[in-house]
Amino acid sequence: MSTNSVSLSPTGDPWLLTPGPLTTSPEVKQAMLHDFGSRDHDFINVNRRVREELAALVDGNGAYTCVPLQGSGTFVVEAMLGTLVPPGGKALVLVNGAYGQRIAKILDYHGRAKVVQECPENEPVDSQRLAQALADDADITHVVAVHCETTTGILNPLKEVADTVAAAGRKLLIDAMSAFGVIELKASDLQFDAVAASSNKCLQGTPGMGFCIARKGALETCEGNSPSLSLDLYDQWMAMEKSAQWRFTPPVQVIAAFGKALEEYQAEGGQPGRLARYRENCRILIDGMERMGFQPLLPENLQAPIIVTFMMPDNPKFEFQAFYDSLKDKGFVIYPGKLTIADTFRIGCIGALGREQMEAALDAIQLTLDEMGVALLSPAA
Ligand SMILES: *Cc1c(COP(=O)(O)O)cnc(C)c1O
Repeated sequence: MSTNSVSLSPTGDPWLLTPGPLTTSPEVKQAMLHDFGSRDHDFINVNRRVREELAALVDGNGAYTCVPLQGSGTFVVEAMLGTLVPPGGKALVLVNGAYGQRIAKILDYHGRAKVVQECPENEPVDSQRLAQALADDADITHVVAVHCETTTGILNPLKEVADTVAAAGRKLLIDAMSAFGVIELKASDLQFDAVAASSNKCLQGTPGMGFCIARKGALETCEGNSPSLSLDLYDQWMAMEKSAQWRFTPPVQVIAAFGKALEEYQAEGGQPGRLARYRENCRILIDGMERMGFQPLLPENLQAPIIVTFMMPDNPKFEFQAFYDSLKDKGFVIYPGKLTIADTFRIGCIGALGREQMEAALDAIQLTLDEMGVALLSPAA
């Protein structure tokens, strides 16, 4: 391959090596080129199918329902917390990054009682400490956990957390945003009351819609909990069950595109198929970056195949903004870091891309290092 060609997606855009929004297929984008009446049966049918297919992904044997919501992922996390944690409840939030912090902040906005159990960003959350905290505080009703903490790309031990929460007789709420559809999460394997995710991460739709998959038995008890009308998932659910329609203007094109994205997901083999491609993307990326002298933050056993955090090279000629701009010129958009423990940047490996794009990205990175005059490996290495 020529190393100085610019690589672009089929629609002429740079490839997005980010945690979302991410590169979508041409067919997913194409599905947005229509108008739909929100009360019309064409749209209602797509909406029903999307809800059913999403609910089926958690393997809940009919016990779970999918409630979609307008907005980015944070909106549905906020809606899940506001609806499922009752005013008299108390939440324990497991934090090892920015998304866990955001959950704690939302609970503060809602005026819900909460405790935070924090651990360093490069360590998985600790279910032993969780068990102790639950034993020590009988007031805690809910535990909130992040599946893949996108801040670093670390995979949290959700099964252990869920078993700990269930053993203590409490309820689990999950922010699985960046892992949903790729890292297995089955109600047949672990107990949870609700999980929140969005259209524009591993399911490869366009941004604009979040969804919460909740156990019906739990959601049924949530009438009147929400401090917000537009973010009230109970009300949204009831209205959708009654009329099959959204309460307020739905993002119709986003839902049509999401329907297409779910077809592509099933065609790829669903969760195992997509996981295999992302794993390969991630392996190519880490191997190639290590060969150039970059160092990943996390050891392999903690790394989810979603987004990889790399240490900022300790080289006076390496300047992140110039590195970013050069990669964008070559067709790849990467992501800044947001860690408190170290100076880092991130490269995602999710979206409608595969081996060819990961290899082209590595070529672009090597070329950029050469242009910057940065050699990360000592000559002896
Ligand atoms: C992306 C993401 C969110 C939601 O972020 P938005 O920018 O609101 O879409 C929440 N939690 C996690 C873990 C995420 O990766």
